[in-house]
Amino acid sequence: MNAPATRIAVVGGSIAGCAMALAAHRGTPAAGEVTVFERSLGELQDRGVGVGIHSALCQELLAEDYLDPRTPYVRLAGRKWITSDGDSYGGKVVGYQDFPFRAYNWGSLWQALRDRIPPGVEYRTRRVVSVAETPDDAVVTFADGTDERFDVVLGADGYRSAVRSAMFPEVRPRYAGYLLWRGTLPVSDLPEQDGLWEPHEAVGVAFPGGHLIMYLIPGRSGTPALNWALYSAPPAGLGPRWDDPTSLPQGGVDAALFDHFDSLGENMPPYWREMLARMPREEILAQPIYDLCVPACATGRLALVGDAAAVARPHTGRGAVKAVQDAVTIQSALNRGMDWPGALRAYAEQRGPVNRSLVELGRVLGDATVLDPPDWREMDQAGFGRWWADAIGRWT
Ligand SMILES: Cc1cc2nc3c(=O)[nH]c(=O)nc-3n(C[C@H](O)[C@H](O)[C@H](O)COP(=O)(O)OP(=O)(O)OC[C@H]3O[C@@H](n4cnc5c(N)ncnc54)[C@H](O)[C@@H]3O)c2cc1C
Repeated sequence: MNAPATRIAVVGGSIAGCAMALAAHRGTPAAGEVTVFERSLGELQDRGVGVGIHSALCQELLAEDYLDPRTPYVRLAGRKWITSDGDSYGGKVVGYQDFPFRAYNWGSLWQALRDRIPPGVEYRTRRVVSVAETPDDAVVTFADGTDERFDVVLGADGYRSAVRSAMFPEVRPRYAGYLLWRGTLPVSDLPEQDGLWEPHEAVGVAFPGGHLIMYLIPGRSGTPALNWALYSAPPAGLGPRWDDPTSLPQGGVDAALFDHFDSLGENMPPYWREMLARMPREEILAQPIYDLCVPACATGRLALVGDAAAVARPHTGRGAVKAVQDAVTIQSALNRGMDWPGALRAYAEQRGPVNRSLVELGRVLGDATVLDPPDWREMDQAGFGRWWADAIGRWT
């Protein structure tokens, strides 16, 4: 007689959830029933902007068959840092660094993963409100009050994870003290730039109290778009309570916060100020930056992957890759013949130190570039090199 199938629930159907569903399916093809529960009704692919992934990590994900070679991207080679210089239209370059990244559209990345999930895996629209482990199984309760039982529950439900609340109710994201503003602008809407930057370059515009990062990504319509991300601390009292984990989606930013956003442009060279001014306000989103790392990625039948387990600040450029690597780690343990409890233990041992290290890297980079930045006006290439080495040197 065949053993009963292992019932696996994946909570969350974003990058970590789709990768995890794929990993669970590939790891237990014959004896596993995998179900994904995603609370969002709409398609996720329309809501993201750009994701930069280090080229070496792309090769790793391609080799593991978690990245589709047909997904369009823009190849980046270097990143130059610019700051204001009197009336200079584009500002002055204060430093240049290698930046071997591929710039993807978040939506295409997610869609390619979603498309790889085989028909045998169920992807259902349901919001999970709680998870509880019993001696025999784990009970997943949904927003309509019904519940279902599983052998393993994998929390891929992001920084406000319900699965994490069941495992570590006391662990919450900690507000880092600043916001990330995000958006994209079609290249046809950009101001005339006349050689200020090249398509293979990322640009950092540094100003007192923050910086703006930009690079091209493939647009959803097929034409490239400029993806931008601006880090800066909002004045006290503006916006909601940031220490209560939240984010402001497109259309969710109020007028007072936009006044503050507009004031940030005054510290930038005219070209970049103009670029931000052309951005339709209803398409801008803002997310507070948080630090988070759970003490253990798995306990018993429950495990956390992606942002649910650890949020590394976006300066690291690792959020999406980290989520996929989590899934790959579990798949490879299963493929080595481990059962689910063994695979989850191996996963927690392997990924815990990586998570802690990446969260620390994000904190170091955030301090160096946003909370305690250098005097950019005094910077030149040699000084930039020393400053960057010193900042990275604080990462242990
Ligand atoms: C819509 C969207 C757009 C994004 N866009 C970008 C981007 O443009 N650039 C970038 O760098 N990063 C983006 N991110 C973040 C990035 O995907 C993550 O940091 C990283 O990939 C790790 O993802 P994750 O799957 O662990 O978490 P997330 O991407 O946050 O996904 C968590 C998923 O879980 C679902 N979920 C949460 N709670 C429940 C629940 N109780 N029941 C059921 N489902 C639940 C959410 O709806 C979400 O789909 C985006 C995330 C989302 C959700």
